[in-house]
Amino acid sequence: MNVSQTCKIEITKSLVSKINAVDFENLSFGSVFTDHLFECDFKNGEWQQPVIKPYAPFLLDPSSRVFHYGQAIFEGMKAYKDGSDAIWLFRPDENFKRFNKSAVRMAMPEVPEEIFMSGLNQLLQLDKAWVKKGSGNAMYIRPFMIATGGGVIANPSTEYKFMIILSPVTSYYSGEVKVLIAEHYSRAANGGIGAAKAAGNYAAQFFPTNLANKAGFQQVIWTDDATHTMLEEAGTMNVFFRINDTLLTAPVSERILDGVTRKTLIDLAKSENINLEIRPVLVSELIEASKNGTLKEIFGSGTAAVVSPIAGFSFQDIYYELPKIENTVALQLKNKLTSIQNKLEEDKFGWTVKI
Ligand SMILES: *Cc1c(COP(=O)(O)O)cnc(C)c1O
Repeated sequence: MNVSQTCKIEITKSLVSKINAVDFENLSFGSVFTDHLFECDFKNGEWQQPVIKPYAPFLLDPSSRVFHYGQAIFEGMKAYKDGSDAIWLFRPDENFKRFNKSAVRMAMPEVPEEIFMSGLNQLLQLDKAWVKKGSGNAMYIRPFMIATGGGVIANPSTEYKFMIILSPVTSYYSGEVKVLIAEHYSRAANGGIGAAKAAGNYAAQFFPTNLANKAGFQQVIWTDDATHTMLEEAGTMNVFFRINDTLLTAPVSERILDGVTRKTLIDLAKSENINLEIRPVLVSELIEASKNGTLKEIFGSGTAAVVSPIAGFSFQDIYYELPKIENTVALQLKNKLTSIQNKLEEDKFGWTVKI
């Protein structure tokens, strides 16, 4: 994997750093950004000179396609600082590949690997004082691309902007999460854009999630759009179920995002000899397992929270509470993964990449 500095980036440093104004003990997730950003424009059929410059707002033409036709994609990844102040990325090749998969689906140009990786590397080097060590601390990295070409004409833009911004974060506690199983709304459909990290997927989730919030639930468990009988994702996370001692998670599909955390937890579970089945999971079997006491855990998986345990779920107006157990598989896997990410434990999988 190449995270080298092969790509020549023009760097303009900010004159003053904002770092002293930041309370690193009380960060609210994704709300504070570092001193610099990475930017590379696409026009005339090619990627232009990449730059790193002070983080600041920028101007766009009001007719830019991103505002009208929603060509916008993103990634979410993290960097960690170890005990000797080295900075590590976690499986950045996976995010890079997925970014370009999303780009293809949204009729946007693919970003060359050296631009993506050099941008990531040099931006993190420049703002490395913002990466704090210690458990829970990380730098949340947000690469994204938008259509900047003007014209309210419904066809793909010929101009794009690829950017990377950085946001320091601490561990993410969501509190008690109760979820509503979707019986009408859908996050994704076959042939749609559910497997892409497209901004519009999130916009489409806001309304049904607001309805769930009003009914007293923090998140929605999305089911398949055609029959609403299969459990697919939890909010913006992949989802795992433990029935007896077996973990279950759905196979990725056109409707399910191929999460890096999901595939990592699958590999960790295998290496820990935890039974795991990757197959469609039915709403009916979840209810059955809850009724007969074999349903032990439900948890979401994603970069932001790593693992997010679910306390109970509602389906057809009946609430099913999960048992409160200590030493959950969710916690066991989370501890294992965060120890590898923070370089506290040997990474025999080769997932961590030093910048
Ligand atoms: C980003 C995302 C995930 C989690 O992916 P990770 O690579 O594990 O962060 C899961 N589901 C959806 C819909 C997502 O957008």
